[in-house]
Amino acid sequence: MSAYTYIDIPFNFRYTCWFCGEPSSRSFDLPKNPNNQRFLEHDPMSIPACSECAVVTVASDVSSIWAVRDQVKRSMMDKYSDHLAIGQNWTEEELKESEFSGALLGGFGESAWAMYLIAKDRVSYQGWPVALDSMLVEGDDESYGFEFDGVRYMSLNTCLEHLIKALRLDAELLPSLVDILGPDRLTYALRIAKLNKAITAYQRNKILDEIRQQQDDQDDMLEQAKYAGQFHGIEEVAIGDGLATISSIQWALKNDIKSLEYLCQQEDAFFDEFAHLGGPQCYMNYYGLQLYFEARQNPVWVAEHDPNLSWW
Ligand SMILES: [Zn+2]
Repeated sequence: MSAYTYIDIPFNFRYTCWFCGEPSSRSFDLPKNPNNQRFLEHDPMSIPACSECAVVTVASDVSSIWAVRDQVKRSMMDKYSDHLAIGQNWTEEELKESEFSGALLGGFGESAWAMYLIAKDRVSYQGWPVALDSMLVEGDDESYGFEFDGVRYMSLNTCLEHLIKALRLDAELLPSLVDILGPDRLTYALRIAKLNKAITAYQRNKILDEIRQQQDDQDDMLEQAKYAGQFHGIEEVAIGDGLATISSIQWALKNDIKSLEYLCQQEDAFFDEFAHLGGPQCYMNYYGLQLYFEARQNPVWVAEHDPNLSWW
């Protein structure tokens, strides 16, 4: 029995938890204590929920179903952070190939990937539009969330918090990197953070200085190129788990390096040129450029995906 009017449930979603998409057997009554109706921006409501989501504790002064959803998802992410981390630590192929998956993954064993997919789907699930007696309940649904690596998080901050916890990263490095690089470069920031899990404050500052310097250099180079009218409009290329940066691609063009084979011969020249970025960053930039050249060997890929098509 529910305490209030149920939200409208489309036929296809009968018996579905609005929060996570699992089968629903209970209801989430909003507010749980009728005395707290005064905090709500909309009418009280009952929401179909699974047994897990139905019992999540939310703040008594919660103001809307959207705020409740945030808190339910947060609790889900805390509970399943180990499962979610599987997808960030391994690919499905790596898990399949791993000869020691049992030992490596502890209790997860062979079902690790399936558990990751279930947790990912539940966290990312977005329910259906909320209406009471056919009247749509207005909300901030549009602005909901930040998507990374196929998982939808409530916000960029929630995503970062989760990654730090699940991957046991340094708590300050990743957010600082994202401040410098921007959320669009989270994949890149995460790679640096994974390489530098246990660091001192001194090391952290050093890394951040290097990244700042790298950004400045990239901006400088862009400026120079713009000024000279040369290589202006080059775009960085994210490919696989690598990134061919603008400055790397410009370097290749400047030096007339247009094949993977020739790039490999010029590896030392690349490391000389970008030594100031520091070892790990320099290596990652080279790796990204290699992946880009490799992809460029496929004419179909070039035609469909190369943003710098006209430069080569
Ligand atoms: Zn649920």
